[in-house]
Amino acid sequence: MAKSREDEGGNAGGGFRGRKVTTCSFCGKTSREVGPMVEGPNEVYICANCVDLCQNIFRQERRRVSSVSSALQEVPTPREIKGFLDQYVIGQDIAKRALSVAVHAHYKRLLHAESEENAGVELDKSNILFVGPTGSGKTLMARTLARILKVPFAIGDATTLTEAGYVGEDVENLLLKLLQAADYDVEAAQRGIIYIDEIDKVGKTSGNVSITRDVSGEGVQQSLLKMLEGTVANVPPQGGRKHPEQQYIQIDTKNILFICGGTFVGIEDVIRRRLGKTRIGFSVDQDDRPHSAELEREQLLAQITAQDIVEFGMIPELVGRLPIITPLMPLGESGLVQVLTEPKNAIVRQFQHMFQLEGATLQFTDEALKAIARKAMKRATGARALRAVMEEVMLDLMYELPDHDNEGAEYVIDEEAIENPRPLQQLRRKRKESA
Ligand code: ADP
Repeated sequence: MAKSREDEGGNAGGGFRGRKVTTCSFCGKTSREVGPMVEGPNEVYICANCVDLCQNIFRQERRRVSSVSSALQEVPTPREIKGFLDQYVIGQDIAKRALSVAVHAHYKRLLHAESEENAGVELDKSNILFVGPTGSGKTLMARTLARILKVPFAIGDATTLTEAGYVGEDVENLLLKLLQAADYDVEAAQRGIIYIDEIDKVGKTSGNVSITRDVSGEGVQQSLLKMLEGTVANVPPQGGRKHPEQQYIQIDTKNILFICGGTFVGIEDVIRRRLGKTRIGFSVDQDDRPHSAELEREQLLAQITAQDIVEFGMIPELVGRLPIITPLMPLGESGLVQVLTEPKNAIVRQFQHMFQLEGATLQFTDEALKAIARKAMKRATGARALRAVMEEVMLDLMYELPDHDNEGAEYVIDEEAIENPRPLQQLRRKRKESA
């Protein structure tokens, strides 16, 4: 198949062909376009680009063989997965349990299908839908999960997909993000996790809790549906130096675990209606017993079904591809205090560590922590507001800190210091003996 023309003088013998115009037997380009080639027997040539490409293919194949045998060999049990989630995510027991079981099953099946090379086994996709308010830990849970399983992870936002309106392209960008997280290891990416936020905004006119649908996002919906179900997508390797030919990279989404999340504002009303409960008498109680509202909400959310999600206004096809639906509860004051102090990388611990680096210790009184939680609750963005509130409280103190002799110093932040910031010196306490 290889052609060669001796128009620049002959060059007999194997090895590099410099002067004769040769054609690469793999990509069909000539040596004028792509430079010198290596010649094999029977007039076969290969150019440098194709050699690179082959090397990538070999590397990927080696990685595939080794990663199947190592990474997925031990799928953690649901109990182990939940135990790991517990270290980072406060509360949300229902979601943690559902997620642990689903994810364990998903990767177990995947491992089985791969190891037995059994093409006949069809994997049921167990994509997951998180329903819960902003800052309740939906993204955190998905991200932490990817860490336990040591699989690549990418985050996308359904609203940007809809608004951009570029059919396919943006949805495929999600896969590109995953591929990048996998360091362009296609096999690893195909076992990764993608979190798609604001899924409740897809195919739905915003702000309207009725069943009205937005037809304009149709194209995005279709490509989203295909991706969730399993399709081979062509991903443009933007900026991927490893693919000089700019060929599309094919990614099969059938084993990618999709976790979608949405706030579904007002879904409790839908559940309540289905259960036939009325609000009568409830709103009267609300002011006197602030906790009854929270409790009722949680009880309702715990009973959420696919039917409620469809009733809410999400398109049934999409709901159908998210077989596991699980609620996340809003975090109350005590939950937020836990978020501040308990996770391995809790915000309070981080500040304490920074004080330690200066030779000082930092303490918060329980009342101070509650005050921070209350401040955060006013912003109605769940635990997301905690960091901002904390940064505000700590900013002046962190600014001042290095100005003092901190060796052995102890600083205590009380409720008063949250409401009315004081200079660092006034928060300084004597060491234990005088306390
Ligand atoms: P969303 O539910 O909106 O996806 P995120 O998971 O992004 O919320 O939460 C924002 C931040 O708030 C997280 O990075 C984490 O620090 C904190 N956070 C939220 N929920 C929890 C939780 N249940 N446990 C611990 N931290 C949480």
